[in-house]
Amino acid sequence: MALRIGVLGTGAIGTDHATMLATTIGGASVAAVFDVDIARAGELAHRIGARRHEAATGLINDADVDAVVIASPGTAHAEQVLACIAAGKPVLCEKPLASTVDDAARVVAAEAALGRRLVQVGFMRRFDPGYVAVKDTIAAGRIGTPMIVHCVHRNRSVPAGFTNAMAMTDTMVHEIDIVRWLLDDEIVSVRVVRGRRGPHAVEGHDDPQLVLMTTASGVLAEVEVILLWPPGYDVRCEVVGSDGLATLEHPRVVSTTMTGNRSEVVPDGWKTRFGDTYRIELQAWVAATLAGTVVGASAWDGYAATVVAHAAAAAQGAADEVGVRLIARPPLYG
Ligand code: NAP
Repeated sequence: MALRIGVLGTGAIGTDHATMLATTIGGASVAAVFDVDIARAGELAHRIGARRHEAATGLINDADVDAVVIASPGTAHAEQVLACIAAGKPVLCEKPLASTVDDAARVVAAEAALGRRLVQVGFMRRFDPGYVAVKDTIAAGRIGTPMIVHCVHRNRSVPAGFTNAMAMTDTMVHEIDIVRWLLDDEIVSVRVVRGRRGPHAVEGHDDPQLVLMTTASGVLAEVEVILLWPPGYDVRCEVVGSDGLATLEHPRVVSTTMTGNRSEVVPDGWKTRFGDTYRIELQAWVAATLAGTVVGASAWDGYAATVVAHAAAAAQGAADEVGVRLIARPPLYG
């Protein structure tokens, strides 16, 4: 029988997820949706043949909803995840797990008290074939001991209302998770340096910024963050090891070579670059949930990424590096 899924938040990514779950993902069906924008939720519900709920709690506690996808704004995530844990329902929560460190810790505490994992955080890069290949290369020892990670994170645009701190908590948070995951290491400190403002920088944004994170084992991870870079959405990663390099540039684009010219298409946004990655992530989550197992980033990973992201936001105005302090990791998370 198909997993009956409820989707909270039917904006940009919630609509994509719900549509994919209803049409493409094996073993899944969308039973219900909810959004504070009733018309938006109703339109989607009609299009994919789902019911529309009047409240998030109604959807979470609906006996005909087996599992929940959360795609509401980050400020709503923690309470909605906590309600899913209380209802004993598996939940795939878009990043960030929570908008404050305390709320992220509350989610970890609630799941640890329950004693079984229900939460997956939507750090979809963990399912991206390119990033998986980088991780496998490191794990196989092919580049020796990892020493430095270089990440590039150039956005073509950010939504209205995006704050300077959100550069760390909403966008750079993907790099935080990928560095932790690739290296299987915790980040212990972070430093942020702002550069000369470009002509496209939005008022109030430090744009560009360089972030330097240090891991517990001493690996240096450096991230170039640009919020508004008109040429395209440009995400790259290179891990420098003692005996080699693992480099991920543009795995989803074709480069062409003509007489006297070599060129490459630049992705126009995250949907172009990571579109198929979301499909792989959703399929893996549905398959694991049906099998009673878990995959992907855990609530602990979501908590750790939140702590580092907020330390990075604090470091935006600081001259020195900011230390990262995590609570003790509950045994549930290995
Ligand atoms: P969005 O387009 O603004 O959609 C969010 C929707 O949720 C809006 O329709 C909003 O309604 C609605 N909403 C507000 N409060 C709600 C609540 N309490 N319960 C349910 N729905 C509520 O945002 P988005 O771009 O889809 O992003 C949604 C989440 O996904 C964010 O956390 C974002 O960081 C994450 N995201 C992740 C990725 C990724 O790569 N993994 C990519 C994109 C987005 P109103 O507009 O009326 O407030």
